[in-house]
Amino acid sequence: MEKIMKPRGTMDIMAPDVYTWNYIEKTVRDVAARFGFSEVRVPTFEEIGLFRRGVGESTDVVQKEMYTFTDKDGTMYALRPEGTASVARAIIENGKATDTLPLKYFYVINCFRYEKPEAGRSREFVQFGTEMFGAPGSAADFTIISLGSTVIQELGITNVKLHINSIGCPNCRPVYREKLKEYLRENKDKLCDTCIGRMETNPLRVLDCKNEPCKEVAENAPRTIDHLCPECAEHLATLREQLDSAGIEYVIDPHIVRGLDYYTRTVFEFIAEGIGAQSTVCGGGRYDGLMEELGGPKMAGIGFGMGITRLILAMNQCGVTIENPNLPKLYIASMGQTAANRALTIVNDLRKNGIVADCDVMSRSLKAQMKYADKIGAKYVLMLGDNEIETGKATIKEMATSEQTEISLDEIAAFITK
Ligand code: ATP
Ligand code: MG
Repeated sequence: MEKIMKPRGTMDIMAPDVYTWNYIEKTVRDVAARFGFSEVRVPTFEEIGLFRRGVGESTDVVQKEMYTFTDKDGTMYALRPEGTASVARAIIENGKATDTLPLKYFYVINCFRYEKPEAGRSREFVQFGTEMFGAPGSAADFTIISLGSTVIQELGITNVKLHINSIGCPNCRPVYREKLKEYLRENKDKLCDTCIGRMETNPLRVLDCKNEPCKEVAENAPRTIDHLCPECAEHLATLREQLDSAGIEYVIDPHIVRGLDYYTRTVFEFIAEGIGAQSTVCGGGRYDGLMEELGGPKMAGIGFGMGITRLILAMNQCGVTIENPNLPKLYIASMGQTAANRALTIVNDLRKNGIVADCDVMSRSLKAQMKYADKIGAKYVLMLGDNEIETGKATIKEMATSEQTEISLDEIAAFITK
């Protein structure tokens, strides 16, 4: 039979990689809980209009990257390319927008984007995301950034730098946009077709284009940070003070604009060194207009998305490896049918008591069972035969030291957890 392969740009995650995945997911859930964020689970697909409005018509995500399909009843859906729009929709739809502020949610979700697969970029990927709504001040920006920074630190990642910028607000951006448009018109012949198409409608997107010639144009473009209104400048200055006091290091990087349309004021990225071209492990910022855009109340918002694969690349780069956290404490090697059955019962009881234990289910020889116990990394092996069952005593061996101890069959749990 011909083999069927997984779709391009997707992943099968198996041991030992899955230990790292689980460890990261556990860490982000721990950290998010410590920051008072509650987990939210949203649908894998949504009406396409949610992303058109929530992410923005002129973005690469909406223009080129969405997986869309028409349902049997003719409704157009998209596999979620990100989480923020869905979470904002869920808050509005479930009446949470009137809860006591701020609203603090996080999620660990798979997202789908039709992109060219490479290291750190796949078509299905997992994102850890946070959203904080209802807090317009820079204390919220600080909280979100420090959450991201804490996760990165607790994962043992040390090769990451925080880049911050402000892209202004509806008050100061129009003036800047006109200046930028003028500059782009002057450099039109160097831009790609996509950028020429969007330079009049959404010139900021051009600054985020991945094409080399466009990047060069972006390099010398007027900078948002030089055109902030007093309120936006003040917001950034306060955030900088708060980060400085907490000892969170950052660089001001005028080139960070973020790919999604709904951002205002603060935008930031945590960028890793040495993991290849896709080096942004975390991207986020403020989106004070999003809730209203989706039919909710006027409400400030800020958050980030962190790609798990890129975290893993950064961890690898820093030499962090995660072992199987559930190696068996005990393997019972048995001889004869009576002992094999007794082994099943003992192991069953140990497992119910929270102890990782195993025994033979393959009718293997004693020698083969010992080999298996070694292979699965059991800490202790207990030898069980008719004689042991009769006397109620058996020899237990610690694999690493080969030290043997005679114990009563009643005290197995106590011995291996001591
Ligand atoms: P990029 O510039 O890398 O395409 P983006 O601006 O499209 O990023 P966001 O939409 O802000 O990214 O997503 C937040 C994070 O999700 C990124 O910083 C990255 O870690 C991760 N991410 C985004 N797209 C992918 C992908 N195709 N594969 C793996 N991870 C991704
Ligand atoms: Mg992208």
